[in-house]
Amino acid sequence: MLAFIQFLVLTLLFIAHKSIIFNMKTTYNNHLLFKILLFTIFLLNFNISGAQGYGGLKTIVIDAGHGGKDPGCRGGHTREKDVTLAIALKLGEFIEKKYPDVNVIYTRKTDVFVELDERAKIANRNKADLFICIHANAGGEAAYGVETYVLGLHRTEAQQKIAERENSAIQFEENNDEKYKDIDLSVDAIIARQLQLSVFLDHSIMFASMIQKQIKNIGRKDRGVKQAGFLVLYKTTMPSVLIETGFLSNKKEERFLRDTANQTLMAQSFFKAFKSYKDYYEKGIVSTTSEKTEKYGLSEDEIKNEEVIFRVQIETSTKKIPKDDDRFKGLPVWMYENNGLYKYTVGAFKSVDKANELKKEMRKRGFEHAFVVAFYQNERINLEKAIKLAKK
Ligand SMILES: [Zn+2]
Repeated sequence: MLAFIQFLVLTLLFIAHKSIIFNMKTTYNNHLLFKILLFTIFLLNFNISGAQGYGGLKTIVIDAGHGGKDPGCRGGHTREKDVTLAIALKLGEFIEKKYPDVNVIYTRKTDVFVELDERAKIANRNKADLFICIHANAGGEAAYGVETYVLGLHRTEAQQKIAERENSAIQFEENNDEKYKDIDLSVDAIIARQLQLSVFLDHSIMFASMIQKQIKNIGRKDRGVKQAGFLVLYKTTMPSVLIETGFLSNKKEERFLRDTANQTLMAQSFFKAFKSYKDYYEKGIVSTTSEKTEKYGLSEDEIKNEEVIFRVQIETSTKKIPKDDDRFKGLPVWMYENNGLYKYTVGAFKSVDKANELKKEMRKRGFEHAFVVAFYQNERINLEKAIKLAKK
């Protein structure tokens, strides 16, 4: 049946292509038009066969950036290669545990050097359905946040610099002239390669945006999905992304990324993105309710004045604390002032049970004194009274 639909679409496109060229011969460049049509055929063809035709997401290759003699970029106390490996191993573990039937392959599991070329080959050789490269960034001291790249043309100097820095790992390889002589990272070549890989690019961008969504959910700065000419992405023939997990050149982010609990948090968010992607890939489902809504409840602009709202208080201070302070561990906090003190909460729920659930989680995450507080018409009110009011 699917084959028949594909045949029909291709035939229609072929007829359309003929007639368009016939009609527009005088004004349009046939060659370009043909290319565009070919590209459309690719996309349509893929979309029709997409969900079912690929038989499930069976193999993922996780690539911890750098390693061995190539330390990657450095913070004051941290080497990129250590951070990337720690996150990569944790991510793999999450997937292995939840999906024992998914084959998780690592380009490295220890502190060894692996050539860029070989990393891509590992993915191709194993016919991976997804390739995910984990890196950390370097930039000015002030830059912070997470960005995910797919292969493409950089839009800014900064993006190009990042690709150049990551590509420079080949300086540690022998015979690199020989190995990379066929790779052309010029504008034309990248466009041509994108066209060749167009079916995967679509999926790469989808996965990349799922990653960035999860990053926002854990309260880290979302720098967006970007494109640049990364060598390691150039050679792979499956959906591939490269995540820059944060800036080691920024002291605060370095501290964040060094921390084992935060490395787990990062791996967990990549795992959640993997889960959404797997659903999308296999069943064509794009989940609409974000985890943030489930976990943290209403956003501030969704709260109506006449509602009783339950929040989880995690911190009190005599001085104002910036919301991105380390002690909040990247959580989306909301502050109110009460009796001359600054109080910090997470979550906003209409149900006290949901707030209690989050309280338990906050206690597990190190906020031992977390407790539920209630608000009515923007004023803190007694909890029992609030529960009664909420039931009305
Ligand atoms: Zn790197």
